[in-house]
Amino acid sequence: MELGSKGLENVDLSLIDVRPPTRHGESLHEPIAIEVLSGAVKEALPEVDIRLTSNQFHDNGQIPNDALQSRVVGLSIGVGDWPTAQNVLDQAVRNGTGDQVLVAGGSYATYMPERLIEEVPHLVCIQGEGEEGLVKLLQIVMANRGKTREQLTRLFVSNEVPGLAVRNDDVLVQIPQQTTDLSRAPLPDRVLLPETLSRGGVSLIEMGRGCQHNACSFCCIPGKHNGEKWRPKPIENIIQDLRDLSNAGITRVDLADEDFIGNDLDRAIKLCERILEEKRQGSLNPVLTFSFVDLRAKSLISNDLMKQEKIMKLLGLMKQAGFHEVFLGLESGACAALKRMRKGSSPKINAQAVAVLNEANMPFDFGFIFFDKESSLGDLKESIRFLRETGLDHRHPRVIKKMRIQPGTVAGRNFLGYPGEDKPINMDLLAYEYDFDDPQVVEVHNRFLEWEDQNKVSTDSFCRAIGYCDDVLRKELEAILGEIRSTDLRVLEHIIDATENCTAINLVQFHEEYSQLIDAGNSILLENN
Ligand code: SF4
Repeated sequence: MELGSKGLENVDLSLIDVRPPTRHGESLHEPIAIEVLSGAVKEALPEVDIRLTSNQFHDNGQIPNDALQSRVVGLSIGVGDWPTAQNVLDQAVRNGTGDQVLVAGGSYATYMPERLIEEVPHLVCIQGEGEEGLVKLLQIVMANRGKTREQLTRLFVSNEVPGLAVRNDDVLVQIPQQTTDLSRAPLPDRVLLPETLSRGGVSLIEMGRGCQHNACSFCCIPGKHNGEKWRPKPIENIIQDLRDLSNAGITRVDLADEDFIGNDLDRAIKLCERILEEKRQGSLNPVLTFSFVDLRAKSLISNDLMKQEKIMKLLGLMKQAGFHEVFLGLESGACAALKRMRKGSSPKINAQAVAVLNEANMPFDFGFIFFDKESSLGDLKESIRFLRETGLDHRHPRVIKKMRIQPGTVAGRNFLGYPGEDKPINMDLLAYEYDFDDPQVVEVHNRFLEWEDQNKVSTDSFCRAIGYCDDVLRKELEAILGEIRSTDLRVLEHIIDATENCTAINLVQFHEEYSQLIDAGNSILLENN
């Protein structure tokens, strides 16, 4: 079939970000995924009339009906949006036009398309990066005026729309994904930025996609990018995007990237130097800062002295350029757990990475997964030791968490191979429900959750406040949360000891310490309300 650009049907496209409306204290992020798609469609098919909507901007959680009337309606659905996604799908089916092509992208469409199609049998899912798939789907719709939805679905299959997952003749058909060539990718179509900002939200930027390690068992990033490793965006493309943001009055940009350095230290250095140069020349606001900058522990460590010097140089440049905090995915301090997670790291490498960031005086947040399916009490004790030895036991991130086993990951596939029939999914978390193999670990985890739940409302409110308050208040709350986390670790240690030695659990002393900390945090919040 010829998919030319002349004599084609006029097609309008409505792209909707399905995230639920934000509540007080939750940070609102620019809906960058649909803006990126819109940029790609505008460049490839300028004749398509595009409209963008974010559910976050509609306080009643209802998408305006006219956004659901387009010939093609695309829904971007991320993890945690399941009840909202069901509502919006229902609204789209009830209020959409009969011959409309309803498309879904994002986490559920990528990792569980069959579950979405169960909700809406005629739904067209596009898995992974959506640009190539959406453009091809639109070309087919434009070239096939008057065709029914069923006829179009067959054409999507026969023309191999990249990443497609549809029900065709009662069979789920999936077409391999295709990633975007970032060296030619257009800038995002940032039409939703003004409203994001007017609602106190934060802008997002992509400086690259994917991860150079690309192998952690629990991670969904490889599936999102069709198994491809880290790919950088051209520096000039990033600078142009930053100039546009700076001209729009932006002073903080969050990165959507998974791996800032990737495998190209020199490129990261050049990027920081270019940002500094642009700031000096006045093309970028000198106070522009960058947050959510993901780094891998291994990319901060080298046996080669010259390379290690370069890493230190990069961290110095990052600070000067406005990268005022980074995120380090440590995940564990236990050797066996890191091996199970295929983290490509070790407690020693993790500790060295922490030392490098401390030496560079670079503030950082970190990710930690305490419990995985095969955890032993020994692993838990090793992680507690690691956190104390690295000085991370008094830091504010919540470290005592259970690994999510997500469909489409290595851990998810392994889990499906475990004996037993029942593998229920928690759709809100897009993760399998599971128990730990070791009954003592089950006991420890349950007892710790009971403890944590008693104060969860307060600690959650401190965490939310940290996301939007000023620097002074943020530091005070982080200090209190740090003490709370440290108490949590001592509680966990006590529960492990009691479980191992079959002695009674006595948390009275910890309750007293905890309530003082919670009171202190609440009074800070009250004073600043
Ligand atoms: S290093 Fe991070 S992004 Fe890369 S595979 Fe592991 S968890 Fe995923």
